[in-house]
Amino acid sequence: MSYPRVHKGATERMQSEQTATLEAGRTTWSRNNPYSATVLENRLLTGSDSEKETRHIELDLADSGLTYLPGDSAGILPLNACDAVDLVLERLHLTGQEPVTDFYGKPLDLRQALSSWLMIGKLSGTTLKAWAKHTGNPELSGVAANKEKLDAYLWGREFLDLIEHAPATLDDPQQLFKILPRLAPRLYSISSSQALLHTHIDLSIRVVKYQSHGRDRFGVCSTHVGERTPKGGKLPIFIHSNQLFRLPADPATRVIMVGPGTGVAPFRAYLQHKQAGCGRWPMWLFFGDQRASQDFLYKEDFEAWVADGTLNRLDTAFSRDQKEKIYVQTRIRENSAELWRWLNEGAYFYVCGDSKRMAPDVEAALLEAVATHSGKGPDYANEFLAEMKKQKRYLRDVY
Ligand SMILES: Cc1cc2nc3c(=O)[nH]c(=O)nc-3n(C[C@H](O)[C@H](O)[C@H](O)COP(=O)(O)OP(=O)(O)OC[C@H]3O[C@@H](n4cnc5c(N)ncnc54)[C@H](O)[C@@H]3O)c2cc1C
Repeated sequence: MSYPRVHKGATERMQSEQTATLEAGRTTWSRNNPYSATVLENRLLTGSDSEKETRHIELDLADSGLTYLPGDSAGILPLNACDAVDLVLERLHLTGQEPVTDFYGKPLDLRQALSSWLMIGKLSGTTLKAWAKHTGNPELSGVAANKEKLDAYLWGREFLDLIEHAPATLDDPQQLFKILPRLAPRLYSISSSQALLHTHIDLSIRVVKYQSHGRDRFGVCSTHVGERTPKGGKLPIFIHSNQLFRLPADPATRVIMVGPGTGVAPFRAYLQHKQAGCGRWPMWLFFGDQRASQDFLYKEDFEAWVADGTLNRLDTAFSRDQKEKIYVQTRIRENSAELWRWLNEGAYFYVCGDSKRMAPDVEAALLEAVATHSGKGPDYANEFLAEMKKQKRYLRDVY
């Protein structure tokens, strides 16, 4: 796998310009007015033989006044990679020095716009339709007119693929603000508790890399943070509060946490919160990933919490360590009698991580546990789950 070339100087210059703009006269921090946090640590959590690259990021809140609670996420405003910007400029026969204005009418040059304002990564339907119109390319117009063809075309493609497929020039580079969507911030579950680490935020970020249509692809924000922002670098952040993923108000309530992969992040925050003395919640964590030797994120933390009694139970599932695939839902099924006992005693059930496969599979295992051990069957299990949702003790933060 090849890695994106890092134009260190250019990235640093772009970051310091971003920082200067952010710091100027700002007092409150938000999505539109992010705080420029210093990276205190950026280290690999996964082993060198892992198929994944997940990184532990520590940010300094210094005297920003930013506050957060376990369950909250941090929003990060990324920059597009310099390489990606260069290629787009080259294909459009532009230099990057062309003057444009941002979405608020503020003047900047095109290179800055493509770095920090416009989404040149994952291709959107709106962009394809606008480019089809701009180029008059009949093949693209056909794709744009058919939802199925459009979805198939968009999969795994970026703006660069589109302009290579249907090359055209732009009379006015400002048109790009109509063609491309705005580069959106990305959210990351906070994996620390401010009760323990007063001026820090920890994040656990999986760097997105894959191949499609014959090219290496890199997630915009996860590579910006993970691979282009080392210790000492700056990241524009804001706090995204999530009232629907809080620890139980009653500090004696049982807590079951299911967090495979980076889904474990908020549960590390919950455990730090308990460690800081904020509650005595009995806690049970299900963690899973591919291989114990490579992918057991925060192994030392979790084992230390088991040893000192902060974490009452830890069940792990490593899918590739044996012939048959073992996932967190497998462990839920194996321990369903005990799980039912916890649920029956009022436990909150939290799920974080993959929304497509893991979360529905975990829900199915949960329903099975209730149906079997209540002795009342699947209809009762559905009612039980509906009641848990009503009581806000079945909580999911999935993505
Ligand atoms: C509430 C919330 C909390 C989150 N917490 C975390 C967290 O703690 N840690 C974490 O790592 N992430 C977390 N995420 C996900 C995170 O916000 C980003 O979505 C993720 O990092 C990808 O962003 P990116 O900019 O790097 O990738 P992008 O540039 O946005 O690219 C991602 C896109 O690439 C495409 N893609 C990815 N893989 C493939 C593939 N194999 N084949 C084809 N296409 C593919 C998909 O369309 C995907 O949407 C969270 C999301 C939410 C909403």
